[in-house]
Amino acid sequence: MKVPVLLTQLNGPVRTKDDFLVFGSPMIEDAEIQEVVKSLKSGWLGTGPKVAQFENDFKAYKNASYAVALNSCTAALHLSMLASELDPGDEVITTPLTFCATVNTIIHAGAKPVLADVDPMTMNIDPAQVEAKITPKTKAIIAVHFAGRSCDMDALCLIAKRHNLKLIEDCAHAIETEYKGRKAGTLGDFGCFSFYVTKNIVTGEGGMVLCREESDASRIKVLALHGMSKDAWKRFGDDGYKHYYVTECGFKYNMMDLQGAIGLHQLKRVDKYWYRRQEIWHRYNDAFADWPIGLPASPEMNTRHAYHLYTVLIDEAKVGLSRDEFLNRMTAENIGVGVHYLSIPEHPYYQQKFGWDISKYPVATKIGRQTVSLPLSAKLTESDVEDVIKAVKKILN
Ligand SMILES: *Cc1c(COP(=O)(O)O)cnc(C)c1O
Repeated sequence: MKVPVLLTQLNGPVRTKDDFLVFGSPMIEDAEIQEVVKSLKSGWLGTGPKVAQFENDFKAYKNASYAVALNSCTAALHLSMLASELDPGDEVITTPLTFCATVNTIIHAGAKPVLADVDPMTMNIDPAQVEAKITPKTKAIIAVHFAGRSCDMDALCLIAKRHNLKLIEDCAHAIETEYKGRKAGTLGDFGCFSFYVTKNIVTGEGGMVLCREESDASRIKVLALHGMSKDAWKRFGDDGYKHYYVTECGFKYNMMDLQGAIGLHQLKRVDKYWYRRQEIWHRYNDAFADWPIGLPASPEMNTRHAYHLYTVLIDEAKVGLSRDEFLNRMTAENIGVGVHYLSIPEHPYYQQKFGWDISKYPVATKIGRQTVSLPLSAKLTESDVEDVIKAVKKILN
């Protein structure tokens, strides 16, 4: 008779504590490590040639007209709105299913955020809901390409054109995203990208804004460095002393060469990492096809999904387990998970400030209460992916 093998292995967690699978851990390779060392040894740490090269490479990758590297996507969103010349009391429409920075930057720009609920399938802002929220005060729309899935850009561009609104794309999840052959971030007036540690390519902290108009790009450059005139960027060069003049009250949002050094090499592997995440995405789809959890919708025809997040829905009525219990149990299996996102109106600050009521955003509320993001990074090995699948099945059983 066979002895039941390794009882501890059956009863213990899928992974050990020492081997905790960190959610969104980035892939860092030798080329960027060497490039950072070179920057350190050169003594040029701040904004310089590597940032300029990263801007040019990213601009070429995206087929964009203008690119300005910044220290975050939050800075990119903020400056896009300042460049949009919003007046106090102007309204900016965005999704309730996003990171708080999308909404906070609207407030920092002096405008009023207005939320339009999402589509239950795509989890992206629903153009019909946007249309319903437009008032004479509406000046801009921020479209978030959630999880890397493109928003319905034909509909949003049409609404923006018809009502003379600025269209800002929050592309924090959408570096590789395409819509009908065009790259996300080049369809609106501004495209805002993040290279934060958990994103598809990383610089530690970092961001980029793409602009269609030269005037917007130069305004953003000035605003990103204290409001100092353009030549200030060259202030520390070796071609003689340069005077600068402060032309407006700006911010400290510039990217450093240490970050640009990482980004240069990460960008070269953007497609390689994308293919790896696509593989993992399909592996999860196959593994969970017959299990009672909600899986992400397939990418739409004529689009490229960036596969930034793999989100499953835990409906307690079907699974017999609450979402939060599922999160706890995954963590107990030593697998890091994420929540993208508890919907914006669930947070006390916005409830108090704007009187937002979750019942007005039923789709985002429901998703926000059921969603769990499983690990999906290019760094995952085959056995990491199998561990995630094992843990999910063990918990659902
Ligand atoms: C990460 C993220 C941001 C903020 O990016 P930072 O570079 O960290 O400022 C904004 N919007 C969305 C949707 C994000 O996921």
